[in-house]
Formats: sequence, structure tokens, C-alpha cells
Amino acid sequence: MPVVDFHIHPLVSEVIDEDKYKCQREVFGLRTSPQPLETLLSQMQEASVERGVLLALDCSVKANCSLPSNEEVASIVKKYPSKFVGFGSLHPYREGSLRELLEEEVINLGLRGLKLNPSIQDFDPLSQRALQLYGELERLNLPLIVHTGLSWFPSTSLEYCKPLIWDNVARRFPNLKIVLSHLGWPWVWDAIAVALRNDNVFLDISNTFTGSPNEHLRYLLTELVPKRFVERFLNEKIIFGSDYPRIEIPKMVRALRGVGLKEEIEEAILRLNALKILGDEE
Ligand SMILES: [Zn+2]
Repeated sequence: MPVVDFHIHPLVSEVIDEDKYKCQREVFGLRTSPQPLETLLSQMQEASVERGVLLALDCSVKANCSLPSNEEVASIVKKYPSKFVGFGSLHPYREGSLRELLEEEVINLGLRGLKLNPSIQDFDPLSQRALQLYGELERLNLPLIVHTGLSWFPSTSLEYCKPLIWDNVARRFPNLKIVLSHLGWPWVWDAIAVALRNDNVFLDISNTFTGSPNEHLRYLLTELVPKRFVERFLNEKIIFGSDYPRIEIPKMVRALRGVGLKEEIEEAILRLNALKILGDEE
């Protein structure tokens, strides 16, 4: 069964030069040296990933770098348009009109959504400028994926990582699709509450703590949240994401299949729910 991986950071050697590697270590806390794009493609193939969502991250205001930039994401998508969907990123406090920035750096580059990480990027997700950005995304029908859940870096705000923040945003912008990453761990039930009561909120299950993919998914989808609850109430809410390159994609897909969910639920999580968010359902 083909899979959609909604959470890939394309920190590949083709785009990560020495300066960016420094930024990657400092801002992202990621010390693994970049792998070639070929490695990402072969992991996708091994795991039957038909489409990967590539996430940019605009750290320009805090660290004067992007991991990677919108242009870099767009250039990878251009090389493999059937394999990748690109999401751009914008710091809401960038100078200029947000509408124009989105048009120039997202729409015109063929990117199809936005990634934000208020904690790493360092902005208040409920500030005026951020709210303005969500309004523009809603107007342009661009889905938003946001980091929620623990941030390990001492210099970042934990407050900005809390899933409950997005209840406020989801209600103000009911036509904006919002994906809360990492199931909000450790605020998992908060993230679930936000997703359950807002039709426009979804949850990705990418890894954010140091357990192996098996440990992580077994813990989240059978122990912390009982499997029957996942199957009964979250079947249209959860989407699959690996968080490559932190996690190897085939291991994460195998771990999800190892949870032992009903086949139709597994298919919804691994593929169909993501296609719906992207507006690509058959
Ligand atoms: Zn991530």
C-alpha cells in the first residue's frame, strides 16, 4: 500500500553547505551530517512512500538562515514533481506585506502549504502578525503544519509548543487546515481535544523524543491513547510523518504497521487522510 510521509526535513547535502550545517546544529540541534537526496529517495522507495511532504523552515529572524529555504525546497520538488510536495515557511515578523511574501515565496514557487515552528523561529503564535499570516493562508487555501510538543533546546520557549494554542487559531480560521505535529507529545490529550472539536485540525505522529520508532508508536497509539480510541475517534485525524532525517522512514512505516491497527484505519493514517488535507484525494 502506498504511503504519504507528511513530515520530511530535506536537510540533504545538496542544500546544506557549511554555514547551514552550523545553523542546523545550533538552531535545530541536529548533528547528523547531511545525506544526499538519493538516500532520502531510496528510503522512500524502500518504505513504499509515493509522496513526501518537504518542509522548509525560515529561521531568518532568529538565526539568519533557513533550514532549508523555500527556494531550496522548490528546487527539489521541481526535480521530482511526482514524488514531492513542498511546504514553504515564513517568519511572521519578516519585513514587508505577508500577502506579498506568501505570493512570492510560496505560491510562485509552486509550494502548497506552510510550516511553522513558533518555538524554534521564536515568535508568539497568537501575536497580531501571526494571526494575520493565518488569515492569508486561509484565504489562499494553503494548509499549515506546526510544531507542537516538546522542544529540547533550552533557548526556545516551551510555552509556544503547546497544542491548546491552536484551538484559538482553528476557531478563528475555520477554513484553515492545521496539522499539529508529533501528536503534541507530551500534551497528547490536549492535541487530541483540539483535533476532535475542530474539523480543520489534524495530528501527525512523527517522532519527537528519543525512543525508537517502535517504542514511540506503540507508546502513543496503544498505551498512552488506547488503540480502540485511535480506531474509533481518530481515524480521520491522524496522518503519518517520519521526521526524516532524525528518523529513518522505513523504520517508522514498519513501526506504524506493527501497531496492529485495523487495515482500513492503517490505510487512512498512512495515506488517505494526508491526501485529503492536500486536496489530492482520488
Ligand atoms: Zn520535524
